[in-house]
Amino acid sequence: MPILSIMTQSRKNFITINSGFICEKCKKTNEKAKKTCRNHCRHCLFSKHVDENVPGDRKSNCNGLMVPIEIIDSPKGRQVKHQCIVCTKEQMNITADDDDIDAVIDIMQKQNLNSW
Ligand SMILES: [Zn+2]
Ligand SMILES: [Zn+2]
Repeated sequence: MPILSIMTQSRKNFITINSGFICEKCKKTNEKAKKTCRNHCRHCLFSKHVDENVPGDRKSNCNGLMVPIEIIDSPKGRQVKHQCIVCTKEQMNITADDDDIDAVIDIMQKQNLNSW
């Protein structure tokens, strides 16, 4: 088989995702969420600063990476507090059912260390 056709074959494995997104932090693919509006990566919980006033408004031009700094269990559900590395804006987001539990525990452990 000519080498060129092998290359075109392997290129087919690269699938473009139309819904969902690829995380800028861990480079993993996030499928479109079924129930909630996915605003953070389900693998590493990083987010992106795209909302200005309310979650989902997409009015910010910052586009900074938002680091998950705190997990808060509230009556509304488990929330993750994100802080933008560019403008330091903080934002609360409700975690999704399929968020990586190890990543959630990791943040909880870090926030416990910080509060000692
Ligand atoms: Zn990620
Ligand atoms: Zn920002």
